[in-house]
Parts: sequence; C-alpha cells; structure tokens
Amino acid sequence: MANNDDQFKKVISHAKEYGYVFQSSEIYDGLSAVYDYAQNGAELKKNIRDYWWKAMVQMHDNIVGIDAAIFMHPTTWKASGHVDAFNDPLIDNKDSKKRYRADVLIEDYCAKLEAKIDKEVAKAAKRFGEAFNKDEFVSTNGRVLGYQEKIDTILSRMAKSLENEDLADVKALIEELEIADPLSGSKNWTDVKQFNLMFGTKLGASADTAMDLYLRPETAQGIFVNFLNVQKTGRMKIPFGIAQTGKAFRNEIVARQFIFRMREFEQMEMQFFIKPGTQKEWFEYWKETRLKWHKSLGMGDDNYRFHDHEKLAHYADAATDIEFKFPFGFKELEGIHSRTDFDLKQHEEYSGKKLQYFDHEDNASYTPYVLETSIGLDRMFLAVFSNALVEEELDNNTTRTVLKLPAVLAPFKAAVFPLVKKDGLPEIAKKIVDDLKWDFNVFYDEKDAVGKRYRRQDANGTPFCITVDHDTLEDNSVTIRHRDTMEQKRVKIDDLRDIIKKEVDVKEWLMRM
Ligand code: ATP
Repeated sequence: MANNDDQFKKVISHAKEYGYVFQSSEIYDGLSAVYDYAQNGAELKKNIRDYWWKAMVQMHDNIVGIDAAIFMHPTTWKASGHVDAFNDPLIDNKDSKKRYRADVLIEDYCAKLEAKIDKEVAKAAKRFGEAFNKDEFVSTNGRVLGYQEKIDTILSRMAKSLENEDLADVKALIEELEIADPLSGSKNWTDVKQFNLMFGTKLGASADTAMDLYLRPETAQGIFVNFLNVQKTGRMKIPFGIAQTGKAFRNEIVARQFIFRMREFEQMEMQFFIKPGTQKEWFEYWKETRLKWHKSLGMGDDNYRFHDHEKLAHYADAATDIEFKFPFGFKELEGIHSRTDFDLKQHEEYSGKKLQYFDHEDNASYTPYVLETSIGLDRMFLAVFSNALVEEELDNNTTRTVLKLPAVLAPFKAAVFPLVKKDGLPEIAKKIVDDLKWDFNVFYDEKDAVGKRYRRQDANGTPFCITVDHDTLEDNSVTIRHRDTMEQKRVKIDDLRDIIKKEVDVKEWLMRM
C-alpha cells in the first residue's frame, strides 16, 4: 500500500490529469495557494454545493439562503473583530528564509509525541493480544502518561501566551523544545510577530477619495448585517437560519497542502438565530445534524471525529470541529460554533442600528444568539476526491484506477459508447445522450476500444457506462456497466433513466441522514 505522502501526490496529479484542479495561471508558473477548478472539478464542486444547499435550505422550512457581496463596508471588519484580532503568529527561519506559523510548529511537535503514544499502544496491543484494554493502558502506563503530560503542558502554555499576546514566550517555547525548521533543520529563528490575514484593496478612482476595503475573510458577516432585512422581509420566526455560499480570502502564512489551505477559497456557512439560553441544545443538534450529512455520503464513518475546542475564539461559548481523515491525517473540515450574541451586538454598537428580534410569545425584544455551521467547499472537495481515489487489484493480476465518488456528486452520471463507429451505432448512442441529458450530465465517447473507454470513465468517477452494440439494432437493449462492481447487465433503453436515477438522485442520498 502506498504511504500517505505518495497517496497525496497521486491525488494531486490525478486531479490535474483528469481535469479536476489546475494550478492558477500555470503558464506563468502558478500563483501560490491559488487554484482553478477545471471542467470536471467545476461540476464536482457544484454538486457538493448543491448537496449542502439542498440539505440546509431546501429541506428546512426555517432556513433561507442569501448571496451577499464580497465587498462590505469597512466598519464591518472593525465590528467583527477582524481588524484587531484576525491574526496568526508567524516566525521566520533566518537560515532557510522559510516562514512558518509559530503555533503550527508547536502543534506539529506535539503531534510527534502523540505518534509516540500511538506506537506504545500498538506495541502493547500486540503483546497483550485479545486481553488488551486500551483505556486502561493509556491511563496507567508510565511512558504514555509522561508523553501526555508533556503535550498538555506545552499546549496550555502556548494557549496562555497567545491569549496574553506574549509572543516572546511563544518563541521561548520553540527554543526550549529545540524545534528545528522541518526543511533545513536550522534552529535559527526570528522573533514571533502577529500577521493580519485580511487582504486589503481600494474602492474609488482617485487616491485622495479612495476608501480602504477588505476582501471578506469569511461569509458570515454578510449574513449578520442582513439579519433584520431577512427576518422582516421573510417574516422569519426564531429559531431560523440564513445560509450562504461564496468566496472568502485569507492571506494564509503557510499554504502548502494543495486545496486544503488556499488564499482564495469558498465557504458554505449557515447562521442559526436562536433564543438566548437555548444555545447548548442547538449546539448539540447541529453537531449531530452536520455529522449525519457527512456520513450520508458513505465515505466511511471512521473517517470523522469531533475535536472540541478548549481555547475559544473571542466570540464563542462553545466550538467544535468535524475533522476528516485526509491523506495527511485528521484535520478540520467543518467548524460548529456557538457565537452567542457577540456579532449582532457588535454591529448594533458600530452601526447605531437596533438588530433585535421581537418575540410575540414573550412580548419582549432581545438580541438573538447564533449557532454557526461553517464548512470549506474546497476542503470538502479534497475530502471527497482523496477518499474516492483507489487503486484496485483485479482478478487477472492487473490493477485499475477508480475514482469512487459518491454517485450523487459525480460530474458525469453516465457515459454512452457505440461499440464501433459505424453501422448506425453512433447515431443510437447520441440519441440516448440527447434523451438522458435532460436529467443528467452524460458523456459521449467513441474513441479507442471499449475496455479503454471503461477505464477512462472509472478514473473519472462516472458511475455508469452504457454501450450500444449490434444487438441494440434488433431489440433496443444496451449493456450497462457499474463503476464499482464492474457488473454488466443487459437492459432496455427505456429503462436507463430509472436505473441511473435510483443511484444518483439527491433524495436517495439525503434520506440516509
Ligand atoms: P484552520 O484552523 O484550518 O485555519 P479555521 O478554524 O481558521 O481553519 P474557520 O474560520 O472556522 O477556519 O472557517 C471555516 C471553514 O472554512 C474551515 O473549517 C475550513 O473548511 C474552511 N477554511 C478556512 N480557511 C481555509 C483556507 N485557507 N482554505 C480552504 N478552506 C479554508
């Protein structure tokens, strides 16, 4: 089996070779951490976005969707806290000239200690066999306890220093732990500095009247500033949600993991407005509901875990991440945050406008609390794509590359082939395409031997291949081949639509939630 690094390299090259993701402006040697979605990638991305939108907006009669502008009044970002606090601590290595996030260097150090714990556990499991009790082992084994204590001490010291803006101590910690530049091995570090992640730009033609703007670093604020507009015009009653998908921009210090961390990316966010005091129940509700959404795609229940935050952002009273097992380990895919009334109160203060809700049942006004679900569309794309790419050993000692995308998300639902390019077979195949394309994205291919065409569609993630042959001329039947099982069946042309629909229909998938 390929190791994780190799697997990740394969994911990146497959994404390029099959027209999913290209490096931005590649002919100019690319732009760092910026990517373009290609012909198949754009379809997959759209399908993921639709799957989210349907689950969140269409299936909830108390959630509506908006599409706010990327530019917002600059005071928005003062009010939200981004101007003052949307920073990452950066550190440079003086020898290699490489830049790092200081907190990530320390977290990576702790991850190595965690790997040592895992090793001890694996060794003990082997030694004790069936009688092994993992919980007991990790809570009593001296070495494991030692590692764990070290991790806890380091992380709590870092959290405290960051909270107190004591950047000198963050550097001291890096030096005490003797953390070296992962690339060059050098321990020659600069001081730690705070770096604001927002991109600035200007609005207006002349230098003296131009206004300083930011590209939004999250879509959420477009929802908060529209809270009352939507509530009034939509006559929404609490609890209700406002959802939105759209681009966000962050000048990330380190962005080296393909589309996992980009400087321009897309978010799918939903802010759920609730009565103060009910946030704990709603936090649990949305944790569970969002995990069910992920699991409905059948990408392996063991590939998800929650990571509850101990250090909370300034606006939150509870927060958790849904982490996914990417080729480089478990990492954040989605955040669920209980944001209290922080944002609405801040916008009230900075705008001088009341952003309250009048509750007819209680006959009183209040500032609602907010529960947020926030997922990166590109990260979801990477989760789906990397999980789907498999190398399969076949019975005849050959291998095939298959992209086992959840059928509901696949860019093309079916490919239609004439067995040969003559005898009227292409005409029938094209007629099938013309008929099916009203319902599904279908692909026509007549080049190369059929076996080769099957393999191309396997690698492209297409759930069905349909082949028209000479028998079709007699009995209006075709061969339909299933991507995952490779099973081939003879079916009537008239039945194709129903057969495909059964596997790709959003309803069939969302009903699993
Ligand atoms: P991280 O800790 O990975 O930087 P975050 O906690 O800052 O992420 P949030 O601000 O909670 O992320 O944003 C919500 C979601 O947006 C994340 O769960 C992630 O899926 C996505 N996201 C955030 N930053 C990026 C990025 N630079 N590139 C791609 N997706 C991102």
